[in-house]
Amino acid sequence: MASSNDPAAAVRQNVETRLITGGRDTKAQHGFVNPPVVHGSTVLYPTAEDLHAHRGEFQYGRHGTPTTKALQQALMALEGPQCAGVGIAPSGLGAISTTLLSVLKAGDHLLVCDSVYRPTRNFCNGMLARYGVETTYFDPLIGTGIEQLLKPNTRAVVVEAPGSQSFEMPDIPAIAAVAHAHGALVIDDNTWATPLYHRSLDQGVDISMQAATKYIGGHSDIMFGTISANAKAWPLIVEGIRLLGVCAGPDDVFLALRGVRTLGVRLAQHHRSGVEMARWLAARPEVIQVLHPALESHPGHAIWKRDFTGASGLFSIVLQPKPQAAVDAMLDALTLFGMGYSWGGFESLAIPFDCASYRTATSWAPGGPTLRLHIGLENVEDLKTDLDRGFAAFNAA
Ligand SMILES: *Cc1c(COP(=O)(O)O)cnc(C)c1O
Repeated sequence: MASSNDPAAAVRQNVETRLITGGRDTKAQHGFVNPPVVHGSTVLYPTAEDLHAHRGEFQYGRHGTPTTKALQQALMALEGPQCAGVGIAPSGLGAISTTLLSVLKAGDHLLVCDSVYRPTRNFCNGMLARYGVETTYFDPLIGTGIEQLLKPNTRAVVVEAPGSQSFEMPDIPAIAAVAHAHGALVIDDNTWATPLYHRSLDQGVDISMQAATKYIGGHSDIMFGTISANAKAWPLIVEGIRLLGVCAGPDDVFLALRGVRTLGVRLAQHHRSGVEMARWLAARPEVIQVLHPALESHPGHAIWKRDFTGASGLFSIVLQPKPQAAVDAMLDALTLFGMGYSWGGFESLAIPFDCASYRTATSWAPGGPTLRLHIGLENVEDLKTDLDRGFAAFNAA
């Protein structure tokens, strides 16, 4: 499903306002604030002439409905003037695979940062390899050094800032400048910060993806993905979505749009609570390192400060070396922090991770067991009490 429109009018508003006004056509909605949830496949043409001419704003459910149009326009208003259109996918991983299949062909070379979301790596090593695309992984901190890895057939460079477990911060503008000089497209998984806090398309990225399952949805109740592209890349995405038949169900489209309306206040709170919890954790004797780009101690802090306007609620910690049983005792003692994958909902989460087994361009040896935390919208004092309980179990084990 793909749509584009001219967001010029919305550009004059501040971004928090655009989250509220984007994609709203009250007149077409019979006065209602929100669009209808259009469940539809067939669209009827009034005359044979209209049918032959494919006349009409909507032609078939897979290609878009009034509900998808409202969401796409809201996301375009959020992305800003570089955005030529937003494609919709049934999951974040679906947005990634659709993007890569839309851009690449047999014989191409792809550069992917070593901290990339692991299922993205699996897609590159699995399906893309089978289809004759060669992938090389690079150190996320490579910067302009990426020049050495670009080949004449390098078609695209995939970045993710920060990596969603290890939190390394690639220098996207530097990587993009080199990639563009060699004719390669730059693709960014911008799920952590969302376009609200990281304006990828303004920083030289050609295609910016979201696992909208996370902060756009915001309530752990949908699977969803979006693909925002600039004018250079948008025709490729439109064609790829059409050929692959990628679309999403109307209820999830509606929930994604509902999430957009409150993204500003939710993300501001995730930022505040996340930074407060990160600072509190940095002072704990059980924690040897906090991997949060908004902390001055983080190696990527300068890049975060330059390129981002906020942080979300996801970061990692490195614990004092102790056996896995101690970490498990800590996790089992937590009552507010749930153990589960994904993030970006209203609830706090804690999950152990280890990148060592699958990294290829860099090695991962943080010096202790690692936990990824998502700081939800609970009261931070209650979250500290919960972690106190967890650390007591960690120390006792
Ligand atoms: C979750 C996630 C995805 C995939 O999203 P799904 O909707 O779960 O398919 C992609 N990238 C990042 C960084 C993620 O965290």
